[in-house]
Amino acid sequence: MGSCCCGGSPAAEDDTNKEEKGDAQSASKPSSMTMSSALGTILGRPMEDVESSFSMGKELGRGQFGVTHLCTNKTTREQFACKTIAKRKLANKEDIEDVRREVQIMHHLTGQPNIVELKGAYEDKHSVHLVMELCAGGELFDRIIAEGHYSERAAASLLRTIVQIVHTCHSMGVIHRDLKPENFLLLSKEDDSPLKATDFGLSAFYKPGEEFKDIVGSAYYIAPEVLKRKYGPEADIWSIGIILYILLSGTPPFWAESETGIFNAILRGHIDFNSDPWPEISTQAKDVVRKMLNSDPKKRLTASQVLSHPWIKEDGEAPDTPLDNAVLNRLKQFKAMNNFKKVALRVIAGCLSEEEIMGLKEMFKGMDTDNSGTITLEELKQGLAKQGTKLSEYEVQQLMEAADADGNGTIDYDEFITATMHMNRMDREDLYHAFQHFDKDNSGYITTEELDQALREYGMHDGRDIREIISEVDTDNDGRINYDEFVAMMRKGNPEPNPKKRRDLFI
Ligand code: ADP
Repeated sequence: MGSCCCGGSPAAEDDTNKEEKGDAQSASKPSSMTMSSALGTILGRPMEDVESSFSMGKELGRGQFGVTHLCTNKTTREQFACKTIAKRKLANKEDIEDVRREVQIMHHLTGQPNIVELKGAYEDKHSVHLVMELCAGGELFDRIIAEGHYSERAAASLLRTIVQIVHTCHSMGVIHRDLKPENFLLLSKEDDSPLKATDFGLSAFYKPGEEFKDIVGSAYYIAPEVLKRKYGPEADIWSIGIILYILLSGTPPFWAESETGIFNAILRGHIDFNSDPWPEISTQAKDVVRKMLNSDPKKRLTASQVLSHPWIKEDGEAPDTPLDNAVLNRLKQFKAMNNFKKVALRVIAGCLSEEEIMGLKEMFKGMDTDNSGTITLEELKQGLAKQGTKLSEYEVQQLMEAADADGNGTIDYDEFITATMHMNRMDREDLYHAFQHFDKDNSGYITTEELDQALREYGMHDGRDIREIISEVDTDNDGRINYDEFVAMMRKGNPEPNPKKRRDLFI
């Protein structure tokens, strides 16, 4: 992450000037960025020179606002893509808001395997720079052009991945609003390269039931209800229905010489299944396209309905896993952690910047329906149900108890962020800060007394023998925790994407 403001938690201290001691020194700490004290006008935090950490390489592409370059981390030599947005192009408040939101949404979606990962956001005098995971395989658009059109099997496989991405965004409370083949990138040039969704420049946070009015998107892919200024997440399904039509036939279904002509065709909604190659395409394939391009958003297929359509089902089988619900998965992961790790996450959560947690804040507000500042058991149940998750009373109760650190029967904002932040959030700087929070005397070790004190401080001492907790982490058996052991505990059990599922996500 590019930033760690470390100001929001009761644990936050300014540790930047403290010397590293003991074993803490053995783990490499990231070098600090060159900072100028002036606050950036877009991201609202100290300006940083991206080129002090990354060297810029060749241009990879350009869009309406940004130019993307290859860039290399000067220390690790790892390559990334850096999208640079010139501030002078941001003409009004809305443009600035859009960039802020793009950064917030990318942070929020971090860790989803088929979404381009934001590594850090930087602002200097002239530009905002988004350093992202590098997708060296280019745009899906170019691959479609090279292929002409896809076989039904290849199109079905690709659509499966795309629908899963869209479902993930929706379950995280994000509507993309600009889904088109140009915004899906390939991680590598290999045939089976993973696909990554990108460009969240037009995306928005939404709460279930919320209606949008602004017309955004790209001409061929815009849903009719967007043109009528009354829409929700179903508009994303329409756009990927258009992508599917293009994958199968090589041409967009609603086509005209002018934008107005295209919009009129979309509003008429007549889909041509007579021209070549449609007569050769299976009835089932046409059925999915027709149902994804239903002009009535209420009757349109949902992401999970698309995935259980016979044409999409892999080898005729129903999908083997239900669709992921990111919040639910994170709550389950959190539940399985020991209190030591939970407290460490609480400290790290307090360090996350506003832009990193904005998405979770929106989700919290969405669940806290009575605006009380806390989520009750009923609100959690309703909130997860609205995202399409069916859980028994007992399961919800268990998740509730796991997230409710102070045991007062409700989940407050800090507890929610701690339990649902993504584990990928932790860079070494965050971990080091958390370590120092426990290591009160700065000795380089967390002792039983220090852990005991920290668990009490957060009301998380459940009576379990502290020595037992320490022994689970203490690999060199010296009765205390050094920084490397702490890092190992924090990183342990942060699951790699499940290989079986990942295969699914390849095209
Ligand atoms: P804009 O929002 O201005 O349209 P995009 O996000 O679409 O900008 O990026 C512009 C171009 O940069 C895209 O056409 C894409 O090919 C390239 N690009 C964007 N992100 C990456 C990435 N992570 N890796 C490689 N190329 C990228």
